[in-house]
Amino acid sequence: MIYSVILDGYYNAINGTPEYFNFIGAENFSPFLSFVHINDIPKVKNIFTTAKPEENSYLVIKFKNYKEIFKWVFLDIKIINGTNLDSRRIYVNLYTIDDFKNSIEQNNISTLRYRMLLDSVGDIYFEYTFKNQNIRFYWINKNQDIEIYNGKFFEWKNYMLSNNYIKNKNLSIFEKLCRDISMGTQKFSYKIMDSKIYADDENIYNIFKCRTIYLENKPYMVIGTLSENNNYYEKETLKDSLDTLTGLLSKEALTNYATELINKKPDFNINMVIVDIDNFKLINNNFGHHFGDEIIKAIADTLDEIVRDRGVIGRFEGDEFIIIFSGFNDNMELRSYLRTMRMTVEEKFKNIKNTVDLSISIGTARYPTDGISFDELFEKSDSCLYIAKQKGKNRYIIYDEVIDIKNIEKKNKKNILTIESREKNAQLACRVIDILMKNNRNNIEDTIKILGEELKLSRIAIFFGKELKRIALWGDKTKVYDNARYIYKGSYLTNFNINGVCVVHSSTSIEGKNPEVHSDYTEQNIYSAIQCLIYGDTGDIAGIISFERSFQRKSWTENEIYNFTLISHLIGELLKKEA
Ligand code: GH3
Ligand code: MG
Repeated sequence: MIYSVILDGYYNAINGTPEYFNFIGAENFSPFLSFVHINDIPKVKNIFTTAKPEENSYLVIKFKNYKEIFKWVFLDIKIINGTNLDSRRIYVNLYTIDDFKNSIEQNNISTLRYRMLLDSVGDIYFEYTFKNQNIRFYWINKNQDIEIYNGKFFEWKNYMLSNNYIKNKNLSIFEKLCRDISMGTQKFSYKIMDSKIYADDENIYNIFKCRTIYLENKPYMVIGTLSENNNYYEKETLKDSLDTLTGLLSKEALTNYATELINKKPDFNINMVIVDIDNFKLINNNFGHHFGDEIIKAIADTLDEIVRDRGVIGRFEGDEFIIIFSGFNDNMELRSYLRTMRMTVEEKFKNIKNTVDLSISIGTARYPTDGISFDELFEKSDSCLYIAKQKGKNRYIIYDEVIDIKNIEKKNKKNILTIESREKNAQLACRVIDILMKNNRNNIEDTIKILGEELKLSRIAIFFGKELKRIALWGDKTKVYDNARYIYKGSYLTNFNINGVCVVHSSTSIEGKNPEVHSDYTEQNIYSAIQCLIYGDTGDIAGIISFERSFQRKSWTENEIYNFTLISHLIGELLKKEA
């Protein structure tokens, strides 16, 4: 977005685009210079008085937006001299740095201006070329490149690692950075804490912000900046606490920002919006944490892209984000943002790896009508999020008084529900133990029947004896093996914990680690399983009980794992006694 304004010789705005007035605050008619950071006023005055008429001059300064936050902006200035100060005209186009960087990608701004910008803010420029896999870091000083490094990417990487410039705790994030560079990820940012990517006498440069430029759908070049730890210009007043995975504000920074803003008791609306990814655990369970991280990052980028300068976004924890919007007049504008977020995520994250659809749920509350402190707004937004989840997810709920009452009712109901379901669980365990204690083989069959039916399993198989032969079976009788010797294949046994229990939420999670056993799962039509070993008196494996589902359902619960462990132990003791 370009913000344009026309000033007279006294620096008063005599005309401007709506975008400009939105940027400084719609009702604000203060003179132009009152938005300029005090340190930059001399520079601005200087260029306004000395610039050659009819020619474009450029300047980078800090400029206050309607939220009273200073943003770095790039000014494109053109002066038309009049007969006096009244008739003099100063045409100013303002770009925020984010807009500026975006427009480079779209090639509608000259690289020259970009380089000027880098010169002014003191960043290091960085580029990686796919064709020759070269990486190059350089400064720009008065239009001249001052090279810091120019060489093969893998050599640079090795150089960084072999000189211990990357601290151990940051190795994984450094790997991610390198992977994003070499794969040409569309947009990424990393802060590599305490690591010496580049340092001069005073400062450590360790924040990467990068974009990949594509040519004919192929990655062509990664360009980006490497900036100082303590000079994160885009979030100038927000300190430099960024979440390392997503590059968004950290929980702390966001909380500070929102608290400060609210405590000023501003006379505009503030909307707190909490966003939580739906069923995110399925992603972790099906495809692993690493992939889960990528999804969190991708969703963060998507939301960030939508929010842009209209609000401030942070990662709160895990799969949860908070956005602070200021200055919406009514819920109309808010709704349009919420709708866009919900629909974009739904559309973009459909059918991940042909298995999972991802969506987000959103809860939001407004200052000053719903609360006048951070905690109050958080509690109310959070209860709306809760309702959104209860109602079936993939939706947004905006706080109002009516919802409050409904919410309290629902919360109480939920408590009752959990108590009921715990009781049900305990009853089930009691029934099973009662039967087992009657102590004969048929009772074992009865037990697994009850368990299988009540807990909607597809199969329970018990294997026992030296050859791990199948001695009892409930459920799906097709495809099941008649012994369980496959558990000895490869390193599969290392999946069993100290209690002899192995929990597989989804067979894909063992695909990479235990490919041989993965095919045994497939052949037996097992999607998820809890398997419990029965140990002989000398500590050898005397048997195994496998609780299985052939279909995708939610992950195994703590309750299920706990119950199956106990029951397997009990069945094991009975079988050993009988043998
Ligand atoms: P719901 O629809 O109710 O939100 O369920 P959910 O599965 O999304 O679960 P919930 O929001 O309660 O929990 C989020 C999960 O995100 C818990 C945790 O395992 C996982 N998680 C938290 N932080 C990270 C992270 O940094 N990386 C990855 N990969 N997973 C995370
Ligand atoms: Mg979630």
